[in-house]
Amino acid sequence: MDTSPERIFELLPKLPKSEKELISRACVFAEKAHRGQVRKSGEPYYNHVFATGYNLATLKMDSDTIAAGIMHDVLEDTDVTEEEMTAEFGGHITKLVQGVTKLGKLRYSGVERHVESLRKFFVAMADDIRVVVIKLCDRLHNIQTLQYVDAHKQQRIALETIELHARLADRLGMGRLKAELEDAAFPYVYPEEYKQTVELFKSLRPISDEQLEKVVGKLEEELSIFDVRIERIDSRIKHLYSLWHKLKRYKMDQSKIYDVIALRILVPSPSDCYQALGVIHGLYRPVPGRFKDYIAVPKPNGYRSLHTTIFSGDGTTLEIQIKTKDMHEEAEYGIASHLSYKEIGKANGNMTEQEIKRKIGWTKDLLEWQKDVEHHQEFMKNLRTDFFEKRVFVLTPKGDVIDLPEGSTPIDFAYAVHSKIGDHVAGAKINGKLVPIDTTLKNRDVIEIDVKDSAFPKRKWIEMARTTMAKRKIRQHIREHGGLIDKFLTR
Ligand code: MN
Repeated sequence: MDTSPERIFELLPKLPKSEKELISRACVFAEKAHRGQVRKSGEPYYNHVFATGYNLATLKMDSDTIAAGIMHDVLEDTDVTEEEMTAEFGGHITKLVQGVTKLGKLRYSGVERHVESLRKFFVAMADDIRVVVIKLCDRLHNIQTLQYVDAHKQQRIALETIELHARLADRLGMGRLKAELEDAAFPYVYPEEYKQTVELFKSLRPISDEQLEKVVGKLEEELSIFDVRIERIDSRIKHLYSLWHKLKRYKMDQSKIYDVIALRILVPSPSDCYQALGVIHGLYRPVPGRFKDYIAVPKPNGYRSLHTTIFSGDGTTLEIQIKTKDMHEEAEYGIASHLSYKEIGKANGNMTEQEIKRKIGWTKDLLEWQKDVEHHQEFMKNLRTDFFEKRVFVLTPKGDVIDLPEGSTPIDFAYAVHSKIGDHVAGAKINGKLVPIDTTLKNRDVIEIDVKDSAFPKRKWIEMARTTMAKRKIRQHIREHGGLIDKFLTR
């Protein structure tokens, strides 16, 4: 493996000299500290930590994070002390490495352990989200070199990667990292299904390279006639694990799979997206029912894009995704795209912070809640509900998206919007119709809460609510305002 820092710099052409120097020093420091240690593959241990730093650079993380990634195993696996690292690199970088060390070498054993690992991640996240990004990049290299690990450990590590790390990456909006983690783990966790999917993948490919090129050529020509500027046009291949997931969802019905290959068109602005769509539909007949506007209504993880499927002219169909460069980077890098270089010095710094809060706000709720729970078991149970179960996303009358676990009710919705609303729910409307407040919410429902000063949380609401946060707030309100009123009101 070529472990020269130059490889990292190639990924970050605008990196100032002083930051290059920092990364180079981290390389020298880690190489020296790990000298003599080897990985199961027989390679120098340093290759692993360099690869972690390299992965961080592909996400365009800042130089402190890359340096910390390169040194992430130094405190745990070598004789170097925290003091020595601080003297050389300062407290801010040492703190990042300590954070990674605290996450520890997690071992998966059963669901409880798994949830415990997750709790550790949340604590780290609340402190500095970059620690979690380093850990995910560390895991990516470990899973990509899993063939050298003892066979009986492979399955366990791979399963943990899918259940924990990939989900975490997904919830942080880091689509590319999630895909890479899943695809590397897939053959170890489900070897048979993996083989099947590889075979299916070959037969499912709907369109030939030739025809694809033809379509691209025609689109470029037509879009330029209509003055729609294209920033980039490329094709993306669906990753195997998500293909398998989709097949499973459709009970292995292959005719439901339209997006093994999709064309991706990046344009300058959201209005260009709609204009491009118009041009494309004028040129190729769209497959009915396949158009999706994720710009107006984003997916629960924040994904935005226009999707359409066209008849490409030779009997095959082709999915086309139209988005802006920002939408694309947000989907690929998620939270990392807000922590990276390009944000530094940008005028809209506040918006970035808001975005980060939106992405990880739910983890803060959980942590806050954890503080006043006496029973660890209960916390674990609720963590499982809130994190591992499927989510629905519903809308406020103003169109804001609220992300809730499946099975949530208008009570959960009200508390997710604001505790003042939750504490005064008098009734609810779903899509304009009055409904009982324990109605189960479905994707894309528009929820309107009727708020009255005279309405208060009742004990039975605890059962009606699904989320930890709502249950906690209801209990808190009853505790503070006494159960007598509650008794009186519910009679
Ligand atoms: Mn490591």
